[in-house]
Order: sequence, then C-alpha cells, then structure tokens
Amino acid sequence: MSAVIQKIDHLGIAVKSIEAALPYYEKTLGMKCGHVEEVPSQKVRTAFFACGEVHLELLEPTDPESPIAKFLETRGEGIHHIAFATSDITGQLAQAKASGARLLHEVPIDGAGGKLVAFLHPKSSFGVLTEFCQPKSEADSSGCCCKH
Ligand code: ZN
Repeated sequence: MSAVIQKIDHLGIAVKSIEAALPYYEKTLGMKCGHVEEVPSQKVRTAFFACGEVHLELLEPTDPESPIAKFLETRGEGIHHIAFATSDITGQLAQAKASGARLLHEVPIDGAGGKLVAFLHPKSSFGVLTEFCQPKSEADSSGCCCKH
C-alpha cells in the first residue's frame, strides 16, 4: 500500500501570543476556538480553529528554544507550515526520503490532537515547511500486519 495525501489537515500560523491573536480569529473572523493544547515535543502552545474540514493551528512558543520562537525571530508572525493528512505517515516519509527530500523527523513524533506528525525540511520543499500528520489510532491499525 502506498501512502496517499488525503487533504490539507491544517495551516500552522506562528504568533507571539495566542491570547493577543484570539480576538482577531474569534471576533473579526467569527471563528470558534476548538481547543488550546500544549505540545511539549515542539515547545509550543497551540489553538485550533475549524474552517470547514481544514483547521487553523495558532502556534505560540513556550520556550526561547522552540522552533516557533526561532521562526518568529527571523520571519516574524505569519503562516508557518502546511499540514497534509496522509493515509500512512511512515510510508509518506519513506517516499519523501527516497525522492531526495530532507526530513526534519525520520520517525513521526507526538503532535497536537492525538496525531503523529513529521516535518520535511523547508530547504527541500521550496520554502514551504511541510508537515505530514495521521491520527495515532489510524497509524496503529495500519501498522498492524495481522489485519491484512
Ligand atoms: Zn501543524
């Protein structure tokens, strides 16, 4: 089975402060914040907004060493990454690597919302930081050989 990109899952947006950005999304755009969650593996706090099937993920650094803190320093606030939902995150990474892309994560890590996530290096994705994600529950069942 080869990995298939199913949809854009979410857009990651770097902000200095979720609290400061909330009124824009909630009042100006009239969207509802689904949940706020801290993701220790990325040293960020995230806030999710549903926009149809696609979500917006606000990312606020919780530590100066956070990748988001570094992004804010060099690029400022704004769109940080595009996340694609994939049917097979491990296969997707293998495919990207085989085609010559640099991976930021060789193995998926724990992301927000109970998902496994992994990033490609922006230097090999034409300036767009690319994330793959897959719900952990799906990854577990697709990784189980006894079901096939
Ligand atoms: Zn993301």
